[in-house]
Amino acid sequence: MGSDCLFCRIVAGEIPATVVRETDTTLAFRDIDPKAPVHVLVIPKEHYADVATLAQGDPALAADVLATSAAVAEDEGLLGDGFRLMFNTGVYGGQEVFHVHAHLLGGAPLGPMLARGLA
Ligand code: 5GP
Ligand code: ZN
Repeated sequence: MGSDCLFCRIVAGEIPATVVRETDTTLAFRDIDPKAPVHVLVIPKEHYADVATLAQGDPALAADVLATSAAVAEDEGLLGDGFRLMFNTGVYGGQEVFHVHAHLLGGAPLGPMLARGLA
């Protein structure tokens, strides 16, 4: 991947982002269009299209994404009141950027898990 992928370009420093945490393998930065008072995207630096590909291809890297998400949740003061960690995946999941990212959302009650029930 690389130049065709928006989040690879953020990792490469070619597109600016408000980075809140960086490790050897992960990057966490604020969503450009926040849907909650805290809305941080947590990604592996290495390109994987979605969470299924990541979890099956490199489980240790998937764990790094979770660990960085937890550290950011702590930094942002979300551990007491709680937060939501979400991976939109594929067409039905509403994924728009095909470099896997965890949405870390918090800072206010987030409402129901889905905008409307589908079952
Ligand atoms: P998805 O729908 O793929 O789960 O979420 C993609 C997210 O990336 C959206 O919440 C969108 O606001 C965010 N996003 C899209 N382009 C950029 C960008 O250039 N910079 C940042 N920081 N976030 C972006
Ligand atoms: Zn990428």
